[in-house]
Amino acid sequence: MKKISKLLIGTNNKGKYKEIKDLLPKYIKTYSTSEFKLKSPIEDGLTFTENSIIKSKYFSKKTNLICLSDDSGLEIDILNKYPGIYSARWAGKHGDFKRAIKKVYKELNKKDKNWRQKKLKARFICVLSIFNLNKKIAIGVGKIEGSISSEPRGKNGFGYDPIFIPKNKKKTFGEIKSSHKYKIDHRFQAFKKIKKFL
Ligand code: IMP
Repeated sequence: MKKISKLLIGTNNKGKYKEIKDLLPKYIKTYSTSEFKLKSPIEDGLTFTENSIIKSKYFSKKTNLICLSDDSGLEIDILNKYPGIYSARWAGKHGDFKRAIKKVYKELNKKDKNWRQKKLKARFICVLSIFNLNKKIAIGVGKIEGSISSEPRGKNGFGYDPIFIPKNKKKTFGEIKSSHKYKIDHRFQAFKKIKKFL
């Protein structure tokens, strides 16, 4: 199979961009959506997979480059898997994750006043898709199981990192060094499955 030499990283999320760039082999010349001044498409899919493909297809068509996109989010079991595909939307138009985290705690308090005494099951999910110019699409799905912290902790990472504690660990993703998070998280698991297509 021919190796990919040029690739657009199809995301406007800085946290994801940094992490995906770090995962990619160095022989690939990467481009960002900001270099092309591209806004994100409307994500009206009903699953992570649909939304991931909406993005990779849209950015690829706009630039004529092969594009790798990510759709991801946090599922909390007691909230019927919300915020899930709405993870970014809970932060509002301006991507305010203090607000998104407040909403998580508000919803948890509504469901169960004593939730802090329990280990609430949650997971991060990531679907990476590569939209190739010859119309072939590759998909990789990754997950990491964990629980919700009783309060936000740590300043590393982005999004919901300060409230997610990976299984068998004590620290939140916000407290764990990024270099370590990158080797265990949902994006890394998804990347392992898709890297053969690069
Ligand atoms: P979307 O895939 O652009 O719809 O956005 C997914 C949202 O899920 C992000 O904006 C983050 O808030 C959240 N998310 C996804 N992956 C991570 C992660 O690794 N850490 C923290 N939050 C994440």
